Amino acid sequence: MSESVVLELRGLRKAFGEHEVLRGIDLTVHRHEVICVIGASGSGKSTLLKTVNLLEGIDDGEVLLQGTDIADPRIDVDATRARIGVVFQQFNLFPHMTVLDNVTLASRRVHGIAKAEAEATARRLLDRIGLGDFAGAYPDRLSGGQQQRVAVVRAIATSPELLLLDEVTSALDPQLVGEVLGLVRELKEQGATILMTTHEMAFARNVADRIVFLHEGEVVEQGAPADVLDRPQHPALVTFLSRVH
Ligand code: ADP
Ligand code: MG
Repeated sequence: MSESVVLELRGLRKAFGEHEVLRGIDLTVHRHEVICVIGASGSGKSTLLKTVNLLEGIDDGEVLLQGTDIADPRIDVDATRARIGVVFQQFNLFPHMTVLDNVTLASRRVHGIAKAEAEATARRLLDRIGLGDFAGAYPDRLSGGQQQRVAVVRAIATSPELLLLDEVTSALDPQLVGEVLGLVRELKEQGATILMTTHEMAFARNVADRIVFLHEGEVVEQGAPADVLDRPQHPALVTFLSRVH
């Protein structure tokens, strides 16, 4: 396997009862790549990300993280999850913990980093997103956009190999979407490897290296944003784009 491959999905299958939600997904994510997964509601986007983070088991196929099959039941789940940063749609912060404690939690508990070092890193990250003054505050003092930016910063505080972002702006008021996507764009510029789902087509066009269109649990089209968005081939993609534009 090429050194630059961070994640490789091979023949990934997942059903809930009779319902086949992922029907043989092949997907490769290279280092420093940002991949936007698009598709109609129910097409399997969230399930795809959950299988990578081991929140859902799979029925068949392989999930290779840096060449190791993490779908293997003998794998150390906690150690594997520690290598992946995740942010979901709903606000992810623990409400009873300060912003600083939220950001340092994984570094200290999972990675065993000393308190002073974890806090220095967290303060540096919070300063970078303009929220240094909120370190001691509880999440409910922050706007939805600020909370979601803290959630992103928390996900990267442990320098994960891969960042999974599932509709991180879907629950936000429209005027707050930009500040979160701006942070994601910055992370890309700094070399992060990101697999994300989004309905923000303008963002996908401008920031994604590749867009993957999921339709009924299959990748039916993928490629450079201009190709996928402006020259769609698959009828389901044509229909999808006519609805979101
Ligand atoms: P998307 O994120 O693209 O909207 P999801 O991955 O959330 O799609 O869901 C894909 C399909 O799988 C949907 O039909 C959904 O109802 C079903 N599904 C997701 N999670 C579960 C679950 N835990 N149990 C049963 N069905 C599920
Ligand atoms: Mg979803």
